[in-house]
Amino acid sequence: TRAYNFCAGPATLPEEVLRQARDEMLDWQGSGMSVMEMSHRSDEFVSIAETAERDLRELAGVSDDYAVLFMQGGASSQFATIPLNLMAADGSADYVNTGIWSKKAIAEASRYGKVNVVASSEEGGFTTVPDQSQWDCSVEASYLHYTPNETIGGLEFDFVPDSGPVPLVADMSSTMLSRPVDVSKFGLIYAGAQKNIGPSGLVTVIIRKDLLGHARRETPTMMNYQVIADNGSMYNTPATYSWYLAGLVFKWLKAQGGVEAIGQLNQRKASKLYNFIDDSDFYANPIAPRFRSWMNVPFTLAEDSLNNDFLAGANARGLLNLKGHRSVGGMRASLYNAMPEAGVDALIDYMAEFARERG
Ligand code: PLP
Repeated sequence: TRAYNFCAGPATLPEEVLRQARDEMLDWQGSGMSVMEMSHRSDEFVSIAETAERDLRELAGVSDDYAVLFMQGGASSQFATIPLNLMAADGSADYVNTGIWSKKAIAEASRYGKVNVVASSEEGGFTTVPDQSQWDCSVEASYLHYTPNETIGGLEFDFVPDSGPVPLVADMSSTMLSRPVDVSKFGLIYAGAQKNIGPSGLVTVIIRKDLLGHARRETPTMMNYQVIADNGSMYNTPATYSWYLAGLVFKWLKAQGGVEAIGQLNQRKASKLYNFIDDSDFYANPIAPRFRSWMNVPFTLAEDSLNNDFLAGANARGLLNLKGHRSVGGMRASLYNAMPEAGVDALIDYMAEFARERG
């Protein structure tokens, strides 16, 4: 009875995870309590938290040189937290502008210091990633920030930028754990949980330990990475239930074979849909093929006037949340880890039928 939910976030979660959470809702492993009711200082919850961190480290290949933090406030709060911790008040940071999430990060960081937009694909409508040889980076920058996957535009880097000695900072909200990534190339990786990790509000931060301890004096305590790291992400009451659910998702992902296996599946799912779109005269995707996102596939119909009918027909078949972001229009199918290949097949079948009947 579960629909295929193509929402960009909060997004579909693995059915097995939701079933386990349901089974454990009233009584977690004989504790007589729901995880929601446990003290975050209890042995039970500390074991849940530590297991989740260990599994995330294993899945993403995170070495002991990095701290793993489970913070709150979503990825958006990191837009301010990062400059407050990493950028000196009289310093600067480099940002790459590849879409709406890059722009939000840039706007927020600009409140705290000098931001240099070293490259942008805005002029062409964010349909490509600017060639790295043209980026105007500075060795003086406190860090280089980019957005590996633009969730709204459906634009994804197929390479990790070379930032030289400057720490590389990445907003991996919508690509985290979707494919293997060499964490050692990064100074800091952050990801809002509500795509491949768990419920919204939670944000995971992977930070190289030498970048801790540099927060500006005025940094709110709750945004100080050193404080959060020193307190095992429990300086205040953490988002315990979200952390627990993230832990269940990590176990599920390990059982699928980890990021290597899920990466192959994700590539196959995305290729199927892009190939179908490219072979069709009725649907289109504007992104340069090399930089098409595996996670978020925007597409337009031959005529916008058909959008509402397309969405109504999709809903009737249990293909939900296909409406594109209001800023770009059209449709968007998000194909996160928990979207089964059968969901993509069902979507393609429906798209083919709709094009036949209405095209
Ligand atoms: N960055 C990216 C790439 C996103 O896709 C999103 C949200 O969907 C955000 C940041 C903002 O995340 P949050 O709503 O958790 O603050």
